[in-house]
Amino acid sequence: MDSNVRILVVEDEDKMRELIKIAFKKENYNTFEAINGKHGLEMFKNAKFDIVILDVMLPEIDGWTVCREIRRLSNVPIMLLTARGEEFDKLFGFELGADDYIVKPFSPRELVARAKALLRRADARSTDTSCSLMLGDILINRLSREITINDEPINLTNKEYELLLFLATNPKIVFTREQLLLKVWGYEQYGDPRTVDTHIKKLREKMGDYSSYITTVWGVGYKLEVPR
Ligand code: CA
Repeated sequence: MDSNVRILVVEDEDKMRELIKIAFKKENYNTFEAINGKHGLEMFKNAKFDIVILDVMLPEIDGWTVCREIRRLSNVPIMLLTARGEEFDKLFGFELGADDYIVKPFSPRELVARAKALLRRADARSTDTSCSLMLGDILINRLSREITINDEPINLTNKEYELLLFLATNPKIVFTREQLLLKVWGYEQYGDPRTVDTHIKKLREKMGDYSSYITTVWGVGYKLEVPR
C-alpha cells in the first residue's frame, strides 16, 4: 500500500492522538488530527481522506453523530475507538455506518493492521465499481475496454468506445454534438459536429437490435438510456 494514505484522526485525548500518529507514521501514512467532533466534521468536508479513526466520546459533537454525518457524505472506511467500560453498542455503531471498532487500550500494531484491512477492502470495492459498467444489456469493461451486448462481444473503434462509454456513464442526459466533441474528442473548437453523427451512426449499426439505446433528441443531440 502506498504512502499517500491520508488518515483523519478525530480524538480529544492528546496522548491517544499522539500514539495513533506515531503508529501510522511508521507506515508512512499521513495523519490529520481533529480534537473534537465539530472540528473533525469540518476537516472531513474540506479534504479527502482514505480512512477515518473516530473516537466515540467526543466534546462538541459526539462520535456517533460524526459517524452518521460522514457516512451520509461518503463511503470512506470508518473505525470507531471506544474505551473499556464505556457504554458502547457495536450494533449501533455498525448501523450508523462504522466499518470496525477497537477498544482502548489497544496495541498500535493492531490498530494499524485493522486500518490496513479496511483500506484494502475499500480499495477492492472501488476497483469493482469502476472497472465495469452495466447499463441494461450493455456491459462495459473499462480495464479490457471490451463491450458485450446481451453477452455478445462487439468490436468498436477507439472513438466509438469512448463515445459509448461517455454516454453510458451519463445515462439519460442529453448532450449536444459540441459537448460530445469536447468530452470525447477533446475539441474545444473547430470540431465538425458531423463527426459525432457519423460515429453515432456506426455505433448504432454495430449495436444492431440494441441501437434504440441511443436516442436522437431532435434539435439538441443524443442520449443513451435503456429503452422501456
Ligand atoms: Ca474521548
